[in-house]
Amino acid sequence: MTKVLALCLIVFSNLVNMSFAEGSTQHLRDIVIGRCWDYQRQKNVSSVKNCLGIWGIFSKAFAYKDPCNTSFEDYKPYFDEVGMETVRPNKSLFWSGTYKEAHLFSDFDSRYTTLEDTMAGWIVNGLTWCGAKSNTTDGIDYSSCPKCDYFTPFWGQASLKFAEKASGIVRVLLNGTRFDKQGHPTPAYKNDSYFGKYELPNFRVKEVTHLLVLVVHSIGGADLESCGNGSIKQLQDDAKKRGINTTCYDDPDDIEHLLCADHPTSRECLFFKNKMRNTSKVTQPEPSWKGWKILAITMSAVAGVCLIAVVVLLVCKTRLAKRCFTSLPYEKQTN
Ligand code: NAD
Repeated sequence: MTKVLALCLIVFSNLVNMSFAEGSTQHLRDIVIGRCWDYQRQKNVSSVKNCLGIWGIFSKAFAYKDPCNTSFEDYKPYFDEVGMETVRPNKSLFWSGTYKEAHLFSDFDSRYTTLEDTMAGWIVNGLTWCGAKSNTTDGIDYSSCPKCDYFTPFWGQASLKFAEKASGIVRVLLNGTRFDKQGHPTPAYKNDSYFGKYELPNFRVKEVTHLLVLVVHSIGGADLESCGNGSIKQLQDDAKKRGINTTCYDDPDDIEHLLCADHPTSRECLFFKNKMRNTSKVTQPEPSWKGWKILAITMSAVAGVCLIAVVVLLVCKTRLAKRCFTSLPYEKQTN
């Protein structure tokens, strides 16, 4: 009975998924125009670009077209207009399978710069868009987008242009605990990923002095791959073939600390708690200081009592002695 119910539930959820395949993001035009103005406001750019014009150029790349037939050439005018900022040396951050971690780490351009922190990437990051030949309103399909790869003409080109701007020490954040959608272990580095296909091959070897490979593992998860083995070694070899030296770090402290904010009690994050405990023992002066105070007061009181006792004894001794001397018979005789 439970098996039949579970089967019905799976069939029903599949039907729901099929009938509501993701189409272009609602209010796409407004979001693109709004993000475009806001990016320029936040970055305080000197020569402001017209966002209505940028929407026109962007939408022309895919509207009224078959999504499965768009090309790199279609999006070229968008990248020509928006451009790609030159990232500060040593600040470029690439990622693969670590979207959340990479952006937590980059902190939206304050620590490092990802493609999504550039104007070209920022404007459309996380949005879906595809054309519809039959839609006469705006040529965009909001009900569903096909299963073909209609995003590489945009994201492949964005990745390539972003990689070309990297210089100095470049970082890539990989996932050492990576599973695919079916739950099967999958390599941290693939040469057909955007990083492997459009970013690593387009680094300017003369400008990139070193590639830091940072491998993060899920807190509480398995270490499927780590520095020096599996696909991570493959990446290091591929970079070397391009003339780029690499250094690899497993779970670097700065990233681990950020991830531990969400898992403070897990085994991997206890280092922080232990350190806090030790520090509090060393730096908290209150209890020992109090102890010394009590001891000092007690000692003073005892010393005071002793002093009084000694004085009283001395006084008594002197008086007794006087009385004794005056009462001695031979003293009178001698006088
Ligand atoms: P990833 O495997 O985590 O993939 C990132 C996105 O691209 C995912 O949505 C994934 O489904 C899709 N994708 C990956 N490979 C694909 C392929 N062969 N065909 C179709 N879709 C594919 O990491 P990645 O592939 O290495 O891409 C991340 C790198 O590329 C980053 O460094 C970033 O600069 C750039 N990028 C960013 C985005 C984005 O949505 N912001 C998308 C693609 C690429």
